[in-house]
Amino acid sequence: MDGHTAPITARPMARGRLFFANPGPTNIPDSVLLATARASMDFNDPAFMAVYDACFAGLKKVIKTEQHLFMYTASGHGAWEASLVNTLSPGDLVLIPETGHFSASWTKMCSTLGFRTQPVAADWRRGVEMSAIREALAADTAHEIKAVCCVHNETAAGTRLPIDQVRAILDELKHPALLMTDTISSLGCFDFRMDEWGVDVCVGGSQKGLMLPTGFSFTGASEKAMAAHRASTHPRHYFDWTEMLARKQKSFVGTVPVTLFYGLQEALRLILEEEGLENVFKRHARLAKAVRACVQHWSGNNGPQLFCQNPERYSDSVTAILMPEGTDAEAVRKIALERFNVSTGAGLSNLSGKVFRIGHLGDLNEPMILGTLASVEMALGLAGIPHAKGGVQAAMDSLTQP
Ligand SMILES: *Cc1c(COP(=O)(O)O)cnc(C)c1O
Repeated sequence: MDGHTAPITARPMARGRLFFANPGPTNIPDSVLLATARASMDFNDPAFMAVYDACFAGLKKVIKTEQHLFMYTASGHGAWEASLVNTLSPGDLVLIPETGHFSASWTKMCSTLGFRTQPVAADWRRGVEMSAIREALAADTAHEIKAVCCVHNETAAGTRLPIDQVRAILDELKHPALLMTDTISSLGCFDFRMDEWGVDVCVGGSQKGLMLPTGFSFTGASEKAMAAHRASTHPRHYFDWTEMLARKQKSFVGTVPVTLFYGLQEALRLILEEEGLENVFKRHARLAKAVRACVQHWSGNNGPQLFCQNPERYSDSVTAILMPEGTDAEAVRKIALERFNVSTGAGLSNLSGKVFRIGHLGDLNEPMILGTLASVEMALGLAGIPHAKGGVQAAMDSLTQP
């Protein structure tokens, strides 16, 4: 959904690469693209099953779980839905800490599916207060709340939610609610530990930190989530985990997206073997810090500023940039794309036109991010947006800090 809200188009005839700085989908490494270029084959073929099993194990390493994993031919929204209908029953109450567009969408999905929702209100620029989550759970002495649905990285606001702290609150209060976490734009970008943090349901997707094409998503499920699944009475079929467990792949109802698994095998090789997960996180942190240094510099002269006002919640995968009052983010995005072939993310829901976003997740390095920032800085100038020139220098200084 990112990047498709504005009526602007890339220049298909432009030479050089489109610099793609959307926060999803993301750049696909050439080796992953090549790996997906395969003829169709039987998804029960032993040659494919070997690739499949390796991917299954590799994905669990990225999520950091030794428990259960279910996969679907669907985008991330499908995995959200699968997670809810497999573990909850109609009328169950779900607590949803507000983070922005994606917590709001998840809330809407819960209501549509027949669950009751209780939001934890928050200032999107600061991130939800842990004390507010604690208060809501402490007040629920009857344990009516069956799940807490958290968005680990709010892609619309550029904020991170500390999931380990939510776990600590549940433990302290001995509250039995399932801890569900959307990790769609954080997996493979910054630290996430399903088992260590006691996450019961982990929702992920292919086209962000995992650097794959869109079309495949998954759920990590704890033993506790599996017990909840056995007790759940919600109707489901395509996403039914029990249905899946009866199959050879222990996932998917219907055709397995075979070519995506060849891509996943290569992406996992890049992440886990060639670069190493810890180095992947370090690269994301370094690039994110440079982007923030640049935006903080631009904010001089009443220029655009970081949407996130809470340094503890800065996201390492996406930066949302708030435009000066009365100026249009879409004008900047349009110039960046049409003039310089640099694609950025639009502001979502009520941030539309007020915010644009630079995705710095996935297959990305220093020159790519500097090229993006330089083009955006030129676009700010051309659009007549007040700002302090020299943001790119600030990013360069950040990147060369020892
Ligand atoms: C992208 C995204 C989604 C939605 O995933 P789709 O693959 O577009 O369905 C959900 N949550 C977050 C945090 C996201 O970044």
